[in-house]
Amino acid sequence: MTSRLDVSLLTPELLARYDRPGPRYTSYPTAPQFSAAFGEASYRERLAAAARRADQPLSMYVHLPFCEARCTFCGCNVVISPRRGPEEPYLAALDSELELLAEALAPRRRLSQLHWGGGTPTYLDPAQCERLFEAITSRFPLADGAEVALEIDPCVTTMEHLATLRRLGFNRVSMGLQDLDPAVQEAVRRVQPLGLTREQVMEARRLGFVSVNIDLIYGLPLQTESGFRTTVRAVIRELAPDRVACFSYAHVPWIKPHQRALETGALPTGWEKFRLFLGAAEEFTAAGYRFVGFDHFARPGDELALALDEDRVHRNFMGYTVMPASDQVGIGVTAIGDVAGAYTANQKKLASYQRGVAAGGLPIERGVLRSSEDELRRAVIHRIICSLALDYQWVERSFGIDPRAHFADALAALQPMAADGLVELEADGLRVTPAGRFFLRNLCMPFDAYLAAAAAGPTYSRTV
Ligand code: SF4
Repeated sequence: MTSRLDVSLLTPELLARYDRPGPRYTSYPTAPQFSAAFGEASYRERLAAAARRADQPLSMYVHLPFCEARCTFCGCNVVISPRRGPEEPYLAALDSELELLAEALAPRRRLSQLHWGGGTPTYLDPAQCERLFEAITSRFPLADGAEVALEIDPCVTTMEHLATLRRLGFNRVSMGLQDLDPAVQEAVRRVQPLGLTREQVMEARRLGFVSVNIDLIYGLPLQTESGFRTTVRAVIRELAPDRVACFSYAHVPWIKPHQRALETGALPTGWEKFRLFLGAAEEFTAAGYRFVGFDHFARPGDELALALDEDRVHRNFMGYTVMPASDQVGIGVTAIGDVAGAYTANQKKLASYQRGVAAGGLPIERGVLRSSEDELRRAVIHRIICSLALDYQWVERSFGIDPRAHFADALAALQPMAADGLVELEADGLRVTPAGRFFLRNLCMPFDAYLAAAAAGPTYSRTV
């Protein structure tokens, strides 16, 4: 895989054929298949199954939903509270949930991966961060070499936060930045000067965080290709992040009504929006970054860039990772898990979550137990996204089926994409072309058995 991009095939006509709603495939089956029929009893069964493999690595995601103010582009599950206070009862609920999980899983099972996301995890003050960290690691100690990461908002994070987090054992930090253009920042109500972000990146490095990730967003009002290229160049020059996620702004006002505020501005769509990403991808790859897939870039020498060459890249709810884990538990309101063959989703509403835990129950709202067919399709989608290829012999060996026959419909649906130069369909497997890496969601969609039913209403953001 070269680091230079071949964009010669990418045209407005090609884009128009593939710019449609589609899942991001952080899970398969995807969220619309999660059902309330999967409740606490089902979750407890899965946890009991997971407890039987106590020696396997465990990954934990902790959702901290609070933010001081709402950014209009936000698609996360957040609770806006300019005044501190609601985090204390929430921390108590997290403590109770952790205790319930520790009882259900093997005692003191080690974590290979711990991730705090939000919301804004550093909405908690340093002492609260320390208390939560202790509540977690006293029950689930960190394994040697564990990835311990959190998302921070530079606007509310202090140097004391960074020092405390590093001392506790956090070794990775991810900062949202979106776009450096002040007009764009004003338009999305998130004003964050470069100097502030740079100070925190430098301090994180000085403290010994091994990886700094920067999140950018394209498709916001007032963004232009040249303006966004300027942002990307400044990010590379001033921050030199180890990893970058350059997300497509997902405009889903039917789920996030506050996003309607952005419709008054000029929201780039179609080719104009795609050019924003293309320009960013050109800048990153010209600077030596590796295009991992979807929207991720890794600096040469970063473990993710190395894993690309060795086909060791994985993907979970948090994005691309080099750390596979057999189970991933989600803690907190709306947190999603993947435990012993089932996806689980906690209560969406803060009050229901806290009430559920206070009543002594696991706060599960929905989930889905994967069938053997789901596991097969999930593995195929995972291969396409992470390995950018699918080896039919591997499918035969792993699942005992002939993929050519089993996926005859999907492979037929890929023919037009092969004709467009996005994928190569060979006798022994399929390979994503450099142009196809921009359309991974589209390439996975033919393998999604649920998509036809889900397509009836507005469900997913657009693929491009
Ligand atoms: S800080 Fe992050 S999570 Fe909070 S509202 Fe803004 S984008 Fe959403």
